[in-house]
Amino acid sequence: MKKVVKFGGSSLADAGQFRKVADIIHADDSRVYVVPSAPGKRTSADTKITDLLYECYELASKGQNFYEPFLAVKDRYNEIIQGLGLGLSLSEAFDEIEDKLQHSPERDYTASRGEYLNGLIMSSYLGYEFIDAAEVIFFDEAGNFDGSKSYPALSARLEQSDNAVIPGFYGLGNDGKVRTFSRGGSDITGSIVARACRAAVYENWTDVSGLLMADPRIITSPARIDSITYRELRELAYMGASVMHEDAIFPVKSAGIPINIRNTNSPQDSGTWIVENTARRSQYTITGIAGRKDFCSIIIAKDLMHSQPDFYRKVAQCFEENNIPLEHLPSGIDTMTVVVKESAFIEHEQDVLRRIVKFVEPESVEVEPGIALIAVVGRSMKSQTGTAAKIFQALADARINVRMIDQGASELNIIVGVLNEDFERAVKAIYNAFVA
Ligand code: ASP
Repeated sequence: MKKVVKFGGSSLADAGQFRKVADIIHADDSRVYVVPSAPGKRTSADTKITDLLYECYELASKGQNFYEPFLAVKDRYNEIIQGLGLGLSLSEAFDEIEDKLQHSPERDYTASRGEYLNGLIMSSYLGYEFIDAAEVIFFDEAGNFDGSKSYPALSARLEQSDNAVIPGFYGLGNDGKVRTFSRGGSDITGSIVARACRAAVYENWTDVSGLLMADPRIITSPARIDSITYRELRELAYMGASVMHEDAIFPVKSAGIPINIRNTNSPQDSGTWIVENTARRSQYTITGIAGRKDFCSIIIAKDLMHSQPDFYRKVAQCFEENNIPLEHLPSGIDTMTVVVKESAFIEHEQDVLRRIVKFVEPESVEVEPGIALIAVVGRSMKSQTGTAAKIFQALADARINVRMIDQGASELNIIVGVLNEDFERAVKAIYNAFVA
């Protein structure tokens, strides 16, 4: 059995954290492939190595002096090396990066060095082989991850190595230059490596003991989620719950490999399991709650709109032509509501409204801004009666007016729209109804 273990920036922020990571790896022989991020913040006032590297690039690309942030980068790595008592020297690698910054600065290449250098330290500390991600992870012409090229190369390479460190976040572009994923992309690398070696588990080690049922900025010490399906996670992530890069679930999801989110600072906690399917019931009827503010409802009324089969299409087109994604479409007999993100709508609102009036000749169009959407997600909801009643009773008891309701046919979630100013109170009321 093989496990791929990915460690985030805060798990590798200094020598002390590296020691914890090594203990975790050595505690289980099946943890054979390690994907490190770049060193993150040691304290909240600290700067991530990746941010320092972007700063170096910004200065270098304008022909300005990048000495200060570059020195800070070097100092951080040297401190880790010394703290671990390693004989390793990165001076050649530093010189190479400096030289490139001076003569032909490249943004992605510069940023990727955070993971590259950390991978070198990690490999030296663990005695594991170092596999440069630029030799096994490829991007296509459009700059997207190229699975058809990467998986065969990566699988073949991993077969030759019993234990290896593969730095996260980057690979090689079609043009032969280093490319990175978007920020937080080491999560994606971990997932790709897990798939390539057909790992039994992809362990993603971070600084929290898994996913929480609600945002801790709203709910004090929310309960942890033991297990969640990929689909539930998508619903919550879309509404703002975050623990991992969103794209990291796709490589492992289609290969049926579970993800286990774990805490480097509290390795005894079992964390959260993210799985395709599970017979495990969640402890509560709902798995989690997440929400976002600043949506806008456009309420279109027209008698007998249902006798016009092209009505919805025409309305949708008004948004499509302005490149505005539709979030929800709750409907009535003679009203259709379109819920969109305010940020996407505002700039184009006059054009959208003008088109709606022209194409479908409605009796009225109303725009209601300042709507917050709350997704109450749970795979157990469909087998239990009274879930919706409980949500709406809780909101009614808190005297919160519900502006919109949407329940998908999958019965995986119930979306409730409330006014922005009621958002936090609404989340608390729902959470308390199910958990407290
Ligand atoms: N170091 C990169 C970042 O800060 C990638 C990662 O940590 O996953 O975004």
